[in-house]
Amino acid sequence: MKFHCQCDHVISDSTTDIPYKAYSWPDQSRDAVFAAIERLMERPVPADILQQDALVWPIVIPKGQRTMYQCPECGRLHIKSDDGHYWCFKPEFDGTPKTLFQASRSTEKAP
Ligand SMILES: [Zn+2]
Repeated sequence: MKFHCQCDHVISDSTTDIPYKAYSWPDQSRDAVFAAIERLMERPVPADILQQDALVWPIVIPKGQRTMYQCPECGRLHIKSDDGHYWCFKPEFDGTPKTLFQASRSTEKAP
């Protein structure tokens, strides 16, 4: 999947570990996520059937989850709504980080 940002940069989603992609879920889904985690801790599910367990879905795909991309060129946020439309938000200030979705990666090695 690819789309053009308003700055004309092409945002591509064809692999995993994308540094400009993130997911969000509403606070209203938080209780369901933590309840599902607690249930799994009490009664673990074998890994081979984990994806078939409906009680795991609140963790895998929380209700109201959104896919988001941040353009690495201009910093605009693109948030996908339930109908598949991407809503675009432009940073208001110069100097807004363009790497908000990058995971921190430590270069230090464990002792
Ligand atoms: Zn852009």
